[in-house]
Amino acid sequence: MRILVTGGAGFIGANLCERLLAGGNEVVCLDNFYSSERGNVEDLDVEIVDHDVTEVFPDMGKFDQTYHLACPASPPRYQKDHIFTLKTNFQGTLNVLEYCKENGGKLLFTSTSEVYGDPKEHPQKEDYRGDVNPHGIRSCYDEGKRVAESLCMNFWRQHGLDVKIVRIFNTYGPRMDSEDGRVVSNFIMQALRGEDLTIYGDGGQSRSFQYIDDLLDGMLAMMGSDDFVGPVNIGNPDEFTILEFAEKVKEMVPGEYGLVYKDLPGDDPMQRCPDISLAKEKLNWEPGIDLSEGLKKTIEYFRQKL
Ligand code: UDP
Repeated sequence: MRILVTGGAGFIGANLCERLLAGGNEVVCLDNFYSSERGNVEDLDVEIVDHDVTEVFPDMGKFDQTYHLACPASPPRYQKDHIFTLKTNFQGTLNVLEYCKENGGKLLFTSTSEVYGDPKEHPQKEDYRGDVNPHGIRSCYDEGKRVAESLCMNFWRQHGLDVKIVRIFNTYGPRMDSEDGRVVSNFIMQALRGEDLTIYGDGGQSRSFQYIDDLLDGMLAMMGSDDFVGPVNIGNPDEFTILEFAEKVKEMVPGEYGLVYKDLPGDDPMQRCPDISLAKEKLNWEPGIDLSEGLKKTIEYFRQKL
């Protein structure tokens, strides 16, 4: 198949391109390299289209499938230019949808657990509508992804576009950007450098960490499904507090370093854990890689990079 991946040079995008190539597909990677590295895809046999999704798309021909990932995704990165993040989600997704409408094929949109905001229901099911601050510092991403979901659903309703929506929970693994400010990359890099791990707030907030290969399995299963639009949660339901996660990293990267406490950023969700019963039922998917196994591979990747 001929497949387009927007945001194909990012952490998830590059891993996805690699997986699609291994499946014998022709892959076009569209990226503006705003929060991704060219080096992530230079070693892959993909066609690179240097383009910003907020601009009208160049003619790239027809695609059988499109994976729409393009958007800065770590909090420090998406908060670097809030308006650009919003524009990427709204105008960018609109441009992708228009292109797919003209050029056919299935579209998979990567939404996020952030659409649940600071959830009051736990774990989060797809029919929970979330608790989002519509004008807070995370809103450019949360509300951006929510409006993008709405755009996708309405292209499906109004134009019959073959759309699929996955909501991705915290994901980690090789090709992650060591400088993007996420907890996984921060802790591993700090540990490898022998620096104290930075705990924001009291570390009692929780996250559920999914290894990249599990996410890719879920995304491919979703793309391969018929008559299922979603949205569907793709995440690992093993939940850890940030303090527990720090202990895990300390166990796996022994050293003389400790913990240092910093202010909790505004609107930081206190708990996050996917209910994955819908993915199990519809896609026969569930994650298979636990935190120790996934972290081992990720630590090795960052060690090599250092
Ligand atoms: N966090 C932390 N130390 C760091 C980076 C993040 O304690 O160096 C916390 C952050 O406040 C949040 C959680 O870890 O509660 C996950 O943050 P991340 O930026 O990875 O992603 P999020 O799930 O918030 O989008």
